[in-house]
Amino acid sequence: MSANSKSATMNIVRRHNIKAQKKFGQNFLTDDNVLDEIVEAAGVGSSDHVIEIGPGLGTLTKRLAEKAGHVTAIEIDRQMIPVLDEVLSEYENTRVICADVLKTDMQEIAGMYPDENVKVVANLPYYITTPIVTGLLESGVRYKSITVMVQTEVAERMQTGPGSKEYGALSLAVQYYSKPRIIVDVPPESFYPMPGVDSSVIRLDLYEEPPVRVKDPDRMFRIIKASFMQRRKTLSNALQNNPDTHIPREKTEEILGSLGLDLKIRGEALTLEQFAAFSDLV
Ligand code: SAM
Repeated sequence: MSANSKSATMNIVRRHNIKAQKKFGQNFLTDDNVLDEIVEAAGVGSSDHVIEIGPGLGTLTKRLAEKAGHVTAIEIDRQMIPVLDEVLSEYENTRVICADVLKTDMQEIAGMYPDENVKVVANLPYYITTPIVTGLLESGVRYKSITVMVQTEVAERMQTGPGSKEYGALSLAVQYYSKPRIIVDVPPESFYPMPGVDSSVIRLDLYEEPPVRVKDPDRMFRIIKASFMQRRKTLSNALQNNPDTHIPREKTEEILGSLGLDLKIRGEALTLEQFAAFSDLV
């Protein structure tokens, strides 16, 4: 681990009397190499508007500010604001918003610099990774890419396909909107305090057009969620039992038959293309 960010972080923590808050998922990155790798993986340049979620003590924010056209950082924890004001004082291209990202109008923020590509870069708070990532993907904002540190297990879930136990609704949402690529695995020692899990940086490149055509994506995702809610059940049982879908068993079996699929298949065995085809026939 590099001494630079580690000692700078400990210095700030002492001077501002910061107590890392578990409830906000605060694990600050203290490894210069990893910080550099994230910025590099995101390919940040002067024509980019970077939105950072959870700047914390501003360690990653500073590096983003040096490369990006503009940076907007959204931080929920008020105790970080004076620290960020101090650490980022020399970067005129950077703005900090004190807010909960899940309640923030991302369309409005993304529209601030219409000539710049919008990229999300973050060391995410792990307790809300899934709502943050799915919220970004479904927001309708034309993000160019999303490069984030997440729990390794979650990164694997985003990237995997049928046949793996990690495959689920998150995999399909991520792969409908983007092409995911795990960049690097990061050990707990790269953070202060150390998280109890391994971490990975993953980059999602958002598609201009989704890789599969489906008439009603909302319906497809309702079907997907229902089938993974009872993943050990057959698709026909899971969709019949779920109040959001309520598709009669006979209907599901008829569609599966017309798609040439086993009538007793489980949702976890279907590809994105098959879910799309199924949804269009419902
Ligand atoms: N970026 C910093 C770093 O890499 O050292 C901090 C990363 S820490 C894992 C997650 C950050 O997200 C914390 O600063 C935390 O306060 C912030 N955070 C947690 N929940 C949030 C929310 N709902 N909206 C915005 N920020 C949030």
